[in-house]
Amino acid sequence: MSIVSFTVLIPFGINNFIQGRLIGGVLTLSVASLFIYNAWLGWRGKYSLALNLFGVIPSISLASVNALLTLGVIGSFWAYLSAFSIYFILPLQPAKYANVAFLLAVISAAWFSLEPDVFLRFSATLTAVCFFIYISTRETTKAQAQLKKQSITDSLTGAYNRVQLSQSLKDAMANFKLHGIKSTLCVIDIDHFKSINDTYGHDVGDMVLIELAKFLHDNISSKDTLFRIGGEEFLILMTNTEAYEGERTAEAIRAVVEDLPLIEDRPITISVGVTELGHGYGWKEWMKLSDEKLYSAKQSGRNRVVS
Ligand code: GH3
Ligand code: MG
Ligand code: MG
Repeated sequence: MSIVSFTVLIPFGINNFIQGRLIGGVLTLSVASLFIYNAWLGWRGKYSLALNLFGVIPSISLASVNALLTLGVIGSFWAYLSAFSIYFILPLQPAKYANVAFLLAVISAAWFSLEPDVFLRFSATLTAVCFFIYISTRETTKAQAQLKKQSITDSLTGAYNRVQLSQSLKDAMANFKLHGIKSTLCVIDIDHFKSINDTYGHDVGDMVLIELAKFLHDNISSKDTLFRIGGEEFLILMTNTEAYEGERTAEAIRAVVEDLPLIEDRPITISVGVTELGHGYGWKEWMKLSDEKLYSAKQSGRNRVVS
C-alpha cells in the first residue's frame, strides 16, 4: 500500500509545484517520502507504530486539509482515500481515534472551503464512509483473531497445538543463542490411558484430558506454555528455567496429579521426560531427547519423572 501511495502521490506533488502551490507540493512529497520509508521498513519486516501514528497519519490529514482549502470540491475527493488509508496503516484502536481527529480536521476545513449544501453532503458521506470502514475493519480483525486462535490451539483442551509448538521452540532456541536464556521441556504422557478409555468410555477419557490440561495450565508459571502434542501427551515449555528447576516442578506436578480425584477409585498417573536446551542441536533434537527421557520413564515403571 505504501508503494502504491508513493507512486500515486509523486505526480500530484510535482503538479502542485508546477501550478505554484508550494505548501501542497511540500506536503504531498513529505507524505510520499514517509510512505516510501514505511515501505522500506515493511520490506525489512518492521512496523513502526510511532512513525505511522505521529508521522504518516498527521501528514495525510494535513495534505487532505490543504487539498480542501486550496482546491475546494475537487480537493475533497482525497479525504475518502485518506480515511480508508488510516485503517490500512494503523491497528484498529489507534485508527479509531486517528479517524475521529481526521474527521474533525477535514470537516472544519470543508466548512471554510465548500458551499453550505456541498459541505453538508461532503460531511455526511465522509462520516458514513468512516463509520462503515471502522465497522468492517473491526469485524475482520475479530474474525482474524478468532481464526488465528483456532489454528494454534487444541479445541478439546484449549492448550496450544503443534502448529504453535514449532514456533515457540524456535523462539526459545533463538533466546538461548542470542541471550543465553535457558529453557526446559517437560513432555508429559498419561499412563495406561487406553485402559481408561476402554474401562470408562471415551467421554470419561475426554474429561480426564480436559481436567488434566486445566490443572497443568493453572499450576505452571505465567512464563511457561502448555501444549497438547498428541492424544494424551502434553508438553510444557518452561522459559528461563534450568533442568533442575524443571525437574522439581515436574515432580511436584506428578505427585499432585496422582492424588487428583478425576475418576473415583482410579488414580491417574503421568510419566514425564525433562530436558534442558543445550548447545549444538536444533529444536527437533531437543524434542527427541525429551521423548527419549519420557520413554525411559515408561520403561522404568511409569508414574515418574526422568531428567
Ligand atoms: P502408556 O502408559 O504406555 O502411555 O499407555 P497408553 O495406553 O497411555 O498409550 P497408548 O498410546 O497405547 O494409548 C493412547 C490412547 O489415547 C489411545 C487413544 O485411543 C487415546 N486417545 C487419543 N486421543 C484421544 C482423545 O482425544 N480422547 C480420548 N478419550 N482418547 C484419546
Ligand atoms: Mg500414555
Ligand atoms: Mg502417548
